[in-house]
Amino acid sequence: MRIVFFSAKPYDKHFFEELNQSFGHELHFLDVPLHADTAVLARGFEAVCIFVNDEASAPVIQQLADLNVKLLALRSAGFNHVDLTAAQKHNLKVVRVPSYSPYSVAEHTLALVLTLNRKTHRAYNRVREGNFSLNGLMGFDLHGKTVGLIGLGKIGFATARIFKGLGCRVLGYDIVQSPECEEIGINFTDLATIYAESDIISLHCPLTADTFHLINETTLAQVKPGVMLINTSRGALIDTVAVIEGLKHGQIGYLGLDVYEEEGDLFFEDLSDKVIQDDVFTRLLAFPNVLITGHQAFFTQNAMHNIAEVTLQNITDFAQDKNLKNALF
Ligand code: NAD
Repeated sequence: MRIVFFSAKPYDKHFFEELNQSFGHELHFLDVPLHADTAVLARGFEAVCIFVNDEASAPVIQQLADLNVKLLALRSAGFNHVDLTAAQKHNLKVVRVPSYSPYSVAEHTLALVLTLNRKTHRAYNRVREGNFSLNGLMGFDLHGKTVGLIGLGKIGFATARIFKGLGCRVLGYDIVQSPECEEIGINFTDLATIYAESDIISLHCPLTADTFHLINETTLAQVKPGVMLINTSRGALIDTVAVIEGLKHGQIGYLGLDVYEEEGDLFFEDLSDKVIQDDVFTRLLAFPNVLITGHQAFFTQNAMHNIAEVTLQNITDFAQDKNLKNALF
């Protein structure tokens, strides 16, 4: 099939071109994101491949359908950026990569927790400058702490296993209770208990109408003062303005983010010569106890390999009229 990739970076090109040697599709890479002004670039392509900050809203899907695009292939697990109702209406099939490496995101969650706790980023800079003072570097033992996980899917479970291995007490909440909880040793509970008892709260549920701003002024009033809050899932799970207030008053002691609700204008680009216009984001950067990474939790060699392989297989299955096991409808 002829496939156009939006928001394609050199690393996407590398993995997709290598894997495509055994699939034989025709790949065309664009570095621009998909939105209403760029959708026209899909002219002449049967499949469009997009990532998390591309915009597949109803008007964009209408444009793609008018251009005779037949398949929208997401090289992500999350699909909150796609209007599935519009896709269905225009008979534009949507496929995704439901699982490429839950370990990549779970391990990045641990990286955020350990860096915030043990301040290795500060120690790295200090030691290079010949400053061996320990002032301000004190952490706490993770062993024996309570970790509350919201969302117990593939990533939530992988994260639970890591924290169980560190000797933490793991609480978990999900809208569905899986028997696996008992096997891993997760105490399945409700949100109120997670908020009241956790020293660390980590979010692993998808962004839906129900989870939008799950962490807000009201929920923050219920957490343990000084809690560590980690979000590697989707930015809009957190009301950032409420979280800034929580940081200012010490209700949140540490904040680790790999995602941000307005990340579409920032992440995946080198803006080091530009003035960031987002004042909420720059306020977050000013806190010493906030650590932000730019949506890199998925970014391991293993995950990139699997994303390319599953995406190309999804497209081949579509081309060969096979059962689409990773279709969203
Ligand atoms: P998954 O589908 O395996 O698990 C999601 C879980 O969340 C499910 O068990 C579901 O029942 C639960 N859930 C749904 N609504 C909920 C609610 N209202 N409250 C509590 N739980 C709820 O997905 P996954 O592979 O574990 O991924 C989780 C999320 O991680 C994705 O939705 C995506 O947003 C995010 N993600 C981020 C990155 C990154 O690089 N930062 C990479 C991959 C995925």
